[in-house]
Amino acid sequence: MTSARGRFAPSPTGRLHFGSLVAALGSWLFARSAGASWIIRVEDLDREREMEGAAGDILSTLDAFGLASDEAVVRQSARTALYADALARLARAGHAYRCWCSRSDLEPFGGIHPPACVAPARDRPPAWRLHVGSARIGFTDRVQGTQQQDLPRDVGDFVIWRADGACAYQLAVVVDDAAQGIGEVVRGADLLDSTPRQILLQRLLGLPQPAYAHLPLALGADGRKLSKHEAALAVDGREPLPALHAALRFLGQSASTERNVHMLLSRAACEFDAARIPRAAAVPPAFAAARNATA
Ligand code: GLU
Repeated sequence: MTSARGRFAPSPTGRLHFGSLVAALGSWLFARSAGASWIIRVEDLDREREMEGAAGDILSTLDAFGLASDEAVVRQSARTALYADALARLARAGHAYRCWCSRSDLEPFGGIHPPACVAPARDRPPAWRLHVGSARIGFTDRVQGTQQQDLPRDVGDFVIWRADGACAYQLAVVVDDAAQGIGEVVRGADLLDSTPRQILLQRLLGLPQPAYAHLPLALGADGRKLSKHEAALAVDGREPLPALHAALRFLGQSASTERNVHMLLSRAACEFDAARIPRAAAVPPAFAAARNATA
C-alpha cells in the first residue's frame, strides 16, 4: 500500500484564490484523514509568470487557513540539479531529444508534435522533448474515475526542458513528487489531462506512480475557470471561516459550526468522505458578502 502523504504545489503567479484554496484543502483532507503528512511545494520555475511577493503571500494566507506545511517549504527554483539529472537519464536512454520547433512549425501538424524535430532552422537554443512512442496511458482517478489518453494522438512529443533553460512543469513535478515521497496527488481537474504525461515519465524514470484525485474546478460567475489573476476572487486570510466553509461545501463535505480554524479542520478531516466530492466544475457558493464585510 502506498502512503497517503500529500502535497499542495502552488505556482506563485498571484494571490491564493478560491480554486487554489479548494485544492489546498482537498489535498490536506485526503492526507490528514488517512493520518499522513502534508507538505507545500512552491512551483516557481516559470520566472516570467511569477508575481513578486506571491509566494510569501500564498504561504501566509494558507497559514491563516490552518494549512501549514509539515516540513520546510521546498522551492523548485532551488532544485534544478535534480531535474537536470532526470533529463540526462532520459536523454542517455534515448527517450528525449533536442528540438528547435516553434509554434508555427507545428501548425501543419495541428499543434501535435510529431516523433521528431521538424524545425527548418536550428539557430537558437533547443528545448528537449520526450518521445511518447505509441503510449496509451490509463489510470483510475479517485474523483474523476477511469481515464485514458492516447499520447501520440492527443498530445504528441512534449517539452520536458524549455528552450529558455528552465525545466518544464511535467518533468519537475514528477521528479519532486517521487523525491518527496508523495503517495497521493490531489489537485484541480485542470491537470487531469497532464497526468498521463506524468505517468509516462514515472515509468521511463522507474519512479513509483502515486494515486491521483482531481478535484472539481471552481468557476467564476461567467462560467470560466477562476484564475489567480482575478484578484477580486482572492481569499482573505483575515477572515478564513466563510471561505473555509464554502470550500468544504464545494467539496461535498459538511462544515461544523466550530469557530476555531484548527478545530474546524480536524473535525472535517475526521468526517471526510472522498465519495461525496462532486466531479463536475461548478460556481462556488457565495462567500463574498462575509468577506466584504470584513474588508
Ligand atoms: N503548480 C501547479 C499550479 O499551480 C500545480 C501542479 C500540481 O499540483 O501538480 O497549477
